[in-house]
Amino acid sequence: AAKDNGRHTFSVFSPQSAQMIKERLKLRQEVFSALERRQFVLFYQPQISAANGAVVGAEALLRWDHPRLGVIAPGAFLSMLEDSPAITAVGAWVCEEACRQAREWELLGYRLQMAVNVSARQLADENLPPLLKSLAARYGLDTGCIKLEVTESMLTQDIGKAAAVLRSLQAEGFRIALDDFGTGYSNLSYLRQFPITAIKIDRSFVQEIEEDRRCLDIVNGVIAFAKSLKLSVICEGIETEAQACAIRSTECDVLQGYLIGKPMPASEFQALLLAQSATPQQAAPGCGQPD
Ligand code: C2E
Ligand code: MG
Ligand code: MG
Ligand code: MG
Repeated sequence: AAKDNGRHTFSVFSPQSAQMIKERLKLRQEVFSALERRQFVLFYQPQISAANGAVVGAEALLRWDHPRLGVIAPGAFLSMLEDSPAITAVGAWVCEEACRQAREWELLGYRLQMAVNVSARQLADENLPPLLKSLAARYGLDTGCIKLEVTESMLTQDIGKAAAVLRSLQAEGFRIALDDFGTGYSNLSYLRQFPITAIKIDRSFVQEIEEDRRCLDIVNGVIAFAKSLKLSVICEGIETEAQACAIRSTECDVLQGYLIGKPMPASEFQALLLAQSATPQQAAPGCGQPD
């Protein structure tokens, strides 16, 4: 890492950024062979019930276990894949690996909702529903245990195709969550046009919930609205007890965030599941106020 040289100067042409540009170009060359080299792994982030704190789901998050650089998050490489047809094969691998893992945990006695993020290209691909259907069958999973996370921007790109794909997924019983809710235009007609079953309230609302009273008002409003449409609600990005407390004061169903657990390798997630069932299920803390 670059050391502070004592002068408060910053140049985009500093040796460090030249190095970074070189590194990026190198990554771009390497990312397309990462799948065949079996360098992709899935991390899992726990999702807990707001009612009783039980782990009810896992979000599968892609990681690149790079031989030189270690484990890399999608921010550094996903867009390179998404710009190319290569994302289809990587996305299919993500689906399969998440299903395989969900089955493994189910056989251990943990029936979780497995959330899988999909890319715009996957959502515009009519092969996605049959792929997922065959994976669910192969791994003996109820399709209702698999939840696809899509973002609003994907729904605006190829509306006709995305709607058709989502409808066949819905017909097979898969769940569909609208991710990062509140960051786009939040065109509410999407909720009518597309068979969405859950919304994930973006972490930007959770982040400011203590400082900005309006955030809690917005979250409450969005949840009331979601509930009237019979959608389930997940809040993501919960990092502090105070934020968890504020969210628990709402009708939010499921909590997710670093406070509850960071994305982790499957082995760690499994240890968490085992530890949970070893201790009696605790009710969610009442935030100091008896109710
Ligand atoms: P996302 O689906 O909105 O996932 C949530 C992101 O927020 C994850 O970043 C997660 O690690 C991070 N996060 C979770 N809790 C907290 C928190 O309390 N605080 C903060 N600051 N961050 C939190 P990650 O894993 O780097 O993934 C970034 C994005 O990459 C995801 O956003 C998703 O859009 C995309 N992505 C990840 N895995 C896949 C995949 O397998 N396929 C596709 N198509 N996209 C993926
Ligand atoms: Mg997501
Ligand atoms: Mg999100
Ligand atoms: Mg996102």
